[in-house]
Amino acid sequence: MKLSFKELSLEPASFNGVYSFEDGDFKVGVTGYQADFVPTDAGLYVDIRFDYEFTAPCDRCLEPAKGFGSGRSGIQLSLQPEEVKDETELGDDDMGIVYIEGDEINLEELVRQEVIYDLPVRMVCGDDCKGLCPQCGINLNISKCKCDIITDPRWTVLKDIKKD
Ligand SMILES: [Zn+2]
Ligand SMILES: [Zn+2]
Repeated sequence: MKLSFKELSLEPASFNGVYSFEDGDFKVGVTGYQADFVPTDAGLYVDIRFDYEFTAPCDRCLEPAKGFGSGRSGIQLSLQPEEVKDETELGDDDMGIVYIEGDEINLEELVRQEVIYDLPVRMVCGDDCKGLCPQCGINLNISKCKCDIITDPRWTVLKDIKKD
C-alpha cells in the first residue's frame, strides 16, 4: 500500500490490512494491522498495531514450528532532507525517526520492519523438544537412537580423576 506523505500530513487517517511475507527462514502472516497517522510539527507520526503468526524451523530439531505475536509501535516519519540524502550516518532508525524519500510511504514495508523486530531470536517447537542427536542426526522427538550407549572416552578420563 503506497501512501502520500504530503496528503497524510494534512489530516489524520487510518489504514488496516492483512498480508504475508517471508524473512529468511520465517514465513510470516500479518493477520491484521492498524496504522493511525497523525500530523505533527516534525512531519508525521504513525501508531502501528499488529498481530501476526509465523512458521520457522525449530532451532533444535529443524522441524517447522509455529508461533504468533502482536505488538505496537510509534514511529516518527520525516521527509528525507535533500542535502543529507547521501550521508550514510543518517540511518532509518536513528532517534526513532524513519526518513521518507520522495513523498511515498510504503505502509506494508513499515509494518514489516516492526514485525521483524518483534520476531523471536530463537525458535523452539516446544520446551520439551529433544532436538537432533549430535552424533547420528536422528530427530529424538520421533525416534530413539543407540548413540547414548557409546561413552565419550574424554568423560571416562574425567570420572577416573574424580575417583582419586
Ligand atoms: Zn523442535
Ligand atoms: Zn544418535
